Amino acid sequence: MAAVAPLPAPLPAAPLRYPYGRQSIDASDVAAVTAALTGDLLTCGPAVAGFEAALAAYLGARHVAVCANGTAALHLAYLGLGLAPGDEIITSPITFSATASAAYQAGLGVRFADVDPITGNLDPAAVAALIGPRTRAIVAVHLAGQPCDLAALAALAQAHGLYLIEDACHALGARYRGAMIGGDTSDAVALSFHPVKHITTGEGGAVIMRAPAHHARVLRLRHHGIERDPVRLSIPSPGPWYHEVVEQGFNYRLPDILCALGTSQLARLPRFLAARRALAAAYRAELAAQLPAGLVTAPPELPERDHAYHLFAVAIDFAGLGVDRGRLMRGLAARGVGSQVHYIPLTAQPFHRDRPGAEAPRPRPGADAFYARTLSLPLYPDLTPADVRTIVAALATTLAEIRS
Ligand SMILES: *Cc1c(COP(=O)(O)O)cnc(C)c1O
Repeated sequence: MAAVAPLPAPLPAAPLRYPYGRQSIDASDVAAVTAALTGDLLTCGPAVAGFEAALAAYLGARHVAVCANGTAALHLAYLGLGLAPGDEIITSPITFSATASAAYQAGLGVRFADVDPITGNLDPAAVAALIGPRTRAIVAVHLAGQPCDLAALAALAQAHGLYLIEDACHALGARYRGAMIGGDTSDAVALSFHPVKHITTGEGGAVIMRAPAHHARVLRLRHHGIERDPVRLSIPSPGPWYHEVVEQGFNYRLPDILCALGTSQLARLPRFLAARRALAAAYRAELAAQLPAGLVTAPPELPERDHAYHLFAVAIDFAGLGVDRGRLMRGLAARGVGSQVHYIPLTAQPFHRDRPGAEAPRPRPGADAFYARTLSLPLYPDLTPADVRTIVAALATTLAEIRS
């Protein structure tokens, strides 16, 4: 029999003491879900409008539509703006696959612009260089909760007649120049309520559209492409049963049970954000106290931005230090500490790289440099500053072990 190369050692299967992210559920959340579960309507009921109104009030947005997940939110954002097959978007390669795959689902082409090597956020100059005749939108991803340079991206969009869309799945509660991300800061904003995100509904998402017509389109697409508005029907309505299916739609609805959880979680968001920001400060202090200077770099806090800290991603010069990232992650896991890499550039993913119409390979030094150095450490609201001390101690010990 031919020798088979051993598989790389897997991370331990047992739950980690400190996963990189997780939800926070308390008695108020359980009570909200129980009330919805024993109510009259499990879907299409009052909890949906209630959650949408609560989100709109928090964000300062006019048009919020909740939906099945963040990927559906992106799909609805693209289609709701009227983007169509043959159109292209420009986005970041340092993002979750869904930013691009939702665009392919809408028949769109995707061009990946290079990013800032420190923040991993879109470099406006790199975006500008990619704008072509088919470009219809710029999709900004606020990586880790750090807002992109929205002023520069909005100016570019305006100059070229493009839509500006925000994948704000990491950035609920973040601010740019004092303005809440999602508060009508752009043409369309997508949010996710996956359990590692700022608030959770188990699975869920929301799309915020600036223009009323785009919002109406999103609502129709969310519910099978069904039109009920009398002014938009092709004939005078013959009766209350009447509706028209006018386009390919989806069932992207979020049920009342989950909307009730969302409203309850949203009420806790200010405390979640305060906890995340306090833990980020604790990380900075512990990294400075426990590690040799320059070994592990905390993420920058840029001016004019309020970071929402979905992730606490540090930078380590793995290549320069001769530290194997996999060995560090396994060593941390052995000490109960989860870690993750956000993200492998999508331009290196077989599906995104090799699909028909994909761009020819070209250098993206910012994305490569960011990916080479990044590592996300545990961050979630129920973590304590004492936990952060323990986690940084595990990091210091593991790094010392590897480097000795
Ligand atoms: C989580 C996430 C999504 C997708 O959201 P789901 O709710 O998991 O579908 C999209 N983009 C980014 C950047 C995300 O982090």
